[in-house]
Amino acid sequence: MTDAALRRNLLEQLMDAGRLVVERGLVLASGGNLSVRVPGTDTMLVTASGTWLDRLRPGDFAELTLGGEHRGGPRPSVEWRLHARTYAVRADVEAVVHLHPQHVLLVDLLGERIRFTTLDHRFYLGSAGRVPFAPAGSIELAESAAQAAQDHDAVVLAHHGCSTLGATVEMALRRALNLEEAATMTYRLLLAGNHEADFPEEWRDRIIDV
Ligand SMILES: [Zn+2]
Repeated sequence: MTDAALRRNLLEQLMDAGRLVVERGLVLASGGNLSVRVPGTDTMLVTASGTWLDRLRPGDFAELTLGGEHRGGPRPSVEWRLHARTYAVRADVEAVVHLHPQHVLLVDLLGERIRFTTLDHRFYLGSAGRVPFAPAGSIELAESAAQAAQDHDAVVLAHHGCSTLGATVEMALRRALNLEEAATMTYRLLLAGNHEADFPEEWRDRIIDV
């Protein structure tokens, strides 16, 4: 694939992801931002400031170096540092999905941890980091989230949202969907008065046997 075709393909994946997370009710129309690393470079493509995730077009992405130098496109989301710092510390990560989903935030507001109770939750995530509130767009938030991302593929940002990471847009998206589902199930367990149910300890390291 040529560079231009590769870039167009990556943008199509991000546009599809944006439509899907809004359709699935993970976020309101502009609650988050999406990015990909341009393969083999130190630049990324990130959604522009003020974009609606379910109405993204190819012209809605800014190209920036991980250091923040603007290389093309519109003004990036104010949260670009959150993406850039994570790429800087995780060489294996090629896509970041940052969203503001309700149940992830609800469980955190209740002072509870998200429980990864099913096979899918264990397979795609298994754990999530958590960082305290810091203003959107701040270096402080980007740094604390990047630190948590060294140990987890999902990071909960208190009173704000979450980031999920992947080697592909599809994997970052699957992790976002599974994180919100795990949070929804945790919330329902809490509503049912349950504070204990979790994935069996003895199977956590052997969820698939072929
Ligand atoms: Zn945000």
